[in-house]
Amino acid sequence: MVAPINRIIFQKFLQQNYIKYEIKVKDVHNSLEDEQMSLFMMRSRGRGVVSQYYRYDWIQSYLRKLEKKYRKLVRVESIGKTYERRDILVIQISTDRSARRPIVLIDAGIHAREWIAPSMALYIINQLVERQEGTEELTAKVDWHIIPVINPDGYEYTHTKVRVVPVRTDAEGGSGQLGARDRLWRKNRSKIKNSHCRGTDANRNFDLHWNEVGASSDPCDDTFSGTKGFSEAESQALQKYALKYQNRIKMYLTLHCYV
Ligand SMILES: [Zn+2]
Repeated sequence: MVAPINRIIFQKFLQQNYIKYEIKVKDVHNSLEDEQMSLFMMRSRGRGVVSQYYRYDWIQSYLRKLEKKYRKLVRVESIGKTYERRDILVIQISTDRSARRPIVLIDAGIHAREWIAPSMALYIINQLVERQEGTEELTAKVDWHIIPVINPDGYEYTHTKVRVVPVRTDAEGGSGQLGARDRLWRKNRSKIKNSHCRGTDANRNFDLHWNEVGASSDPCDDTFSGTKGFSEAESQALQKYALKYQNRIKMYLTLHCYV
C-alpha cells in the first residue's frame, strides 16, 4: 500500500530496479468506503450465516443457539479469556462423544482484519451442524473442534474503529501510515510495557522458533512477536487446548486470507 504522495517515487524505484509490477487495488480508501456501504446494505438483508460479516456478539450467540438446538451433536466451551476479557469460544461437533474419535482442529481470525476467515469457519460449522443430511460422512469418523474467532479483541477493533480518512495514527500502534490501518488492524489489543504501541501478533507468539523469520521485536510492527513465546492470552488459550487434546488431534487448520 503506497500513499498517493509517494506514488511517483515508488514507481521510479520499481522501474530503476527492473521490478515488474501490477496494481491490484487502485484506491484502498475507496474500497474501504465501498465495504462500509455494502456492510450497511447487508445488515438490512438476509440472515444467513455467511450473508454478512457478523460482530463477535452475534457469533457467540449463534454458537450458543446451535448448542441448545443440537444437544447431542454440539458442545460449546470457552477456552480462555482475551486481553479485554472476551471469551474465546470453541464449538465441538461430535456424533459420538464416547468414541473419542480423532479430532480436526480449526481456528480462524487470529489476524483481526482477515474477516473472511471467521466467515469460512462459520460456513463449515453451518454445513456440519445444520446441513447434516449432506455432510454426515464428514462427521461419521472424526470430531470437529472449531474456534471461529481466536482474536475477538482485534476482530471487534477492526469493526468499530474504522476511519478511512488518511491521518497519522502512530499513537495507536501500527507503523502510522493511514487511518485506514484501524480497519486493517492485524494483532490482538494487549498493552506492551514501555511502548506507546499496542498489540502482539498472536500468530508470531508461539514458542517454536520464536521471533525468528518473519517476526519483529518492535511493538509498533504488525508482526510483533510479543515479549516472549506464549506471552499472550490468545496463544496461551490455544496452546492449552491443543495440549489437552494432543493425542486425538490428527489435523490442524488455521484459516487466513490475503489482505
Ligand atoms: Zn493471517
